Amino acid sequence: MKNSRLFSEISRHLTECLLDEPAAVKCFLQAMHGYEAKCPGCGMAVTSSRALESFWALRRVSCRRCNKLFSGFSGTPLQNLKISARKLYLIVFYTGLGLSPKEISDRLDLQVSTVQVWVEKAKEIHLHEGLPSPDASAALEPSSRRGVNV
Ligand SMILES: [Zn+2]
Repeated sequence: MKNSRLFSEISRHLTECLLDEPAAVKCFLQAMHGYEAKCPGCGMAVTSSRALESFWALRRVSCRRCNKLFSGFSGTPLQNLKISARKLYLIVFYTGLGLSPKEISDRLDLQVSTVQVWVEKAKEIHLHEGLPSPDASAALEPSSRRGVNV
């Protein structure tokens, strides 16, 4: 590739400051839930537009049926995520490019053990079946897609 040196150069600067945290959060939420926002306790679907907005923004939602408080990461491998979703995104991305945990830790200013933990956690993520096409921008508005009323 003619621009491989350029790729190498700019990829060294691909750190979390180039990414948007809410977008990274939505990326993981959609990978795990598709369009389905549900209570991890009783399985009740989240239906109010306000609760859906909270769910997709990773704010806490209260289940109408069982009163459980949960977020979109509750009951998933990301439940106790201690690093930003942007860093997790880059850990997954760089792992996919073949970088070692040590190389990733240098790029993201993380402990190697932290990178190793989240590489393993990411492997446990159960991808939602029937994920949408790559054009996900409109798909991230579940209420409009599903015609949910307030
Ligand atoms: Zn519930």
